[in-house]
Amino acid sequence: MKVKASTEKKKQGFGMTIPESVMVETGIAEAKCAELHRLKHCVAVLQGKMTAYELIETIRDINKLSEFLTVQLSKACGTCDDCGSCVQPQESKIKVPPELLDELNLPHNAKLEAYPDQDNRLILVGPASYEHDLTDIPEDFLKMLTDAGVCIGKLQELLMLEDTVYGR
Ligand SMILES: [Zn+2]
Repeated sequence: MKVKASTEKKKQGFGMTIPESVMVETGIAEAKCAELHRLKHCVAVLQGKMTAYELIETIRDINKLSEFLTVQLSKACGTCDDCGSCVQPQESKIKVPPELLDELNLPHNAKLEAYPDQDNRLILVGPASYEHDLTDIPEDFLKMLTDAGVCIGKLQELLMLEDTVYGR
């Protein structure tokens, strides 16, 4: 269901209006109270007063949404066909003394990358050019994807590239 989004050039920037029909269909209009849950990348507006049965219906609907999103992620990664790069995430093998990280104001858990400097026969170590990789994904979530046959190697690639995998 699409919610009308307004991008009027006011000071508020991007705003949204929930159509009245949606408020009626969801029972929020009748309950006359709503609860807004601000999540990292979405907003959930719940009917502010619910019976036990209504609450169960809400829980099941949110689970369905969660399943739908997991399917979208799985589709973006595809099924693993022995790609050879599906490996369990490991902590970075590059170990740098913490005092050197401090000198550059880098956090002790900073992701690091190493590059060979052929001319000077040196190995240069610096902050990774990406923000996230498999080490940021909770173990149980990764196991669920692996058990479903999702290509973890591709997921690693998508995480590092930061490409859009949902929507346009
Ligand atoms: Zn794979």
